[in-house]
Amino acid sequence: MGDRSRQLFQDACRYFPGGVNSPVRAFRAVGGDPFFVSHASGSRITDVDGRSYIDYVGSWGPMILGHAHPRVVAAIQKAAEAGTSYGAPTELETRLARLVQAAFPSLERMRFVSSGTEACMSALRVARGFTRRDAILKFEGCYHGHADSLLVKAGSGALTFGVPDSLGVPADLARHTLTLPYNDLESVRSVFAARGTEIAAVIVEPVAGNMGVILPQPGFLEGLREITRQHGALLIFDEVITGFRIAWGGAQERYGVRPDLTCLGKIVGGGLPVGVYGGRADIMEQVAPLGGIYQAGTLSGNPLAMAAGIETLTLLQAPKFYADLEAKGQRLAEGFSQAAAAARIPVRTNRVGSILTSFFTGIPVTDDATAKTADTKRYGVFFRAMLERGVSLAPSQFEAAFISAAHSSEDLDATVAAAREALAALAGA
Ligand SMILES: *Cc1c(COP(=O)(O)O)cnc(C)c1O
Repeated sequence: MGDRSRQLFQDACRYFPGGVNSPVRAFRAVGGDPFFVSHASGSRITDVDGRSYIDYVGSWGPMILGHAHPRVVAAIQKAAEAGTSYGAPTELETRLARLVQAAFPSLERMRFVSSGTEACMSALRVARGFTRRDAILKFEGCYHGHADSLLVKAGSGALTFGVPDSLGVPADLARHTLTLPYNDLESVRSVFAARGTEIAAVIVEPVAGNMGVILPQPGFLEGLREITRQHGALLIFDEVITGFRIAWGGAQERYGVRPDLTCLGKIVGGGLPVGVYGGRADIMEQVAPLGGIYQAGTLSGNPLAMAAGIETLTLLQAPKFYADLEAKGQRLAEGFSQAAAAARIPVRTNRVGSILTSFFTGIPVTDDATAKTADTKRYGVFFRAMLERGVSLAPSQFEAAFISAAHSSEDLDATVAAAREALAALAGA
């Protein structure tokens, strides 16, 4: 880390816990301290010491067009000149909603909020209000933001209710959250057989992204659809990462499963704070002011954020946009796999479209338990070696690499070359 970053980090530690405003930004999982950003453009991010990196964090997903896309920047500037917030409706909200619905026909009605956390928290409230049930089912290793009900890990045994995963989450609330292993449809079946009438909703990342990228096994999403329908529970897809990422219409388009409610975030705001929740009209029309489920937001539908989202989603509709991203993803995944094989280091790369994770493990990664077999120490060494070579990966083994449309062939080749060196050094160490 450069001197200027070190100084800024020390200053920041006097104001923010751990020097950061979101814990994943600290480099605690990989060792060292974070670099401070000066600016970013396209595939590159530059720190305050003047070092430039090929960036695969992409603000943790939103920057699918690359950083500071000129058309998105211009749209934000234009919107700002007309005022930055009104607390009254604008046409921009309807225009963005039209684009969202074109991509996700299951969102018959929706609400804009300001983060993915807010979207998931609100979707749960709607599911509970609509079904008049309190329990929810989630999967180990899936992250749905930091609302109380969602920071819960499994109790012992599949049929016990959850215990808090964070201090400050009341046990009385956590016990309404049931947690099961990802991809384990049989456990879902038996839990519903025992407690089906208590469960308001199943919430799932249709492709998991927050324990590293993990694909749904064939039949998993379809099975969740069938089981929830049989028991009168709602199916919520948390597409905060996958939405507009693995296809224009997200996982529900790619896998052909239609949930009752969907949460979006990240890309939909084009780099500004936007979340969306929505779904079946009969459910969403229970939300205030039409119904008795309350949810609100002073900055919801913010005009700058709407403008950034509209411009971004418009650009995503360019011909072959997703095919090109897919090819880039494939190229990087193959490059990583070959580099690992050459160094004789066991690595498993999971990928869908332009998101991927290379796990430092020799076994297939299909859930949280298998993800945890990864050698996080090795990942930390690899991460730092890549950073030294001008490549910024996520500062944790259990995150995705995000490829953008701005990543060039040269970027990808340089990244694979860096990985070859880094892995060879790791094998020699
Ligand atoms: C990032 C993320 C969230 C939370 O979104 P924030 O905007 O960080 O609050 C929720 N769900 C998933 C799947 C995410 O990746």
